[in-house]
Amino acid sequence: MTKWRKEVLKIIQKSDKPLNAEDIYRLVEHKPNFSTIYRALNYLEKAEFVKSISFGNTPKYYYSNNEHRHFLYCLKCGKIETFDLCMAQELENKVKKNFMFEIFDHIFYFKGLCKNCSERR
Ligand SMILES: [Zn+2]
Ligand SMILES: [Zn+2]
Repeated sequence: MTKWRKEVLKIIQKSDKPLNAEDIYRLVEHKPNFSTIYRALNYLEKAEFVKSISFGNTPKYYYSNNEHRHFLYCLKCGKIETFDLCMAQELENKVKKNFMFEIFDHIFYFKGLCKNCSERR
């Protein structure tokens, strides 16, 4: 793996929230070209070191493939919170049976208003 790929992966793995390319660029030392970050992210996603999610029309956010995560996305301020409680097993079993579909993964998020934004309404 190239130096940049390693560094980008390290940043994503250390973060407790998903990061977009700009967030990562801000955290990377000895700034490379912005396109270097994109290429590293593409590689890391294809090689399944990281996963990505986007929330409606947001850029892609990347997170480590080592952890199973779900997200809360605030529609007003764009804040993203994560949680790892997963209740998909029962649903997966039903889908497997009803559709004869082999499931490898799922991506799941709630959208709504965070605590701050709902208090201010
Ligand atoms: Zn909010
Ligand atoms: Zn899950």
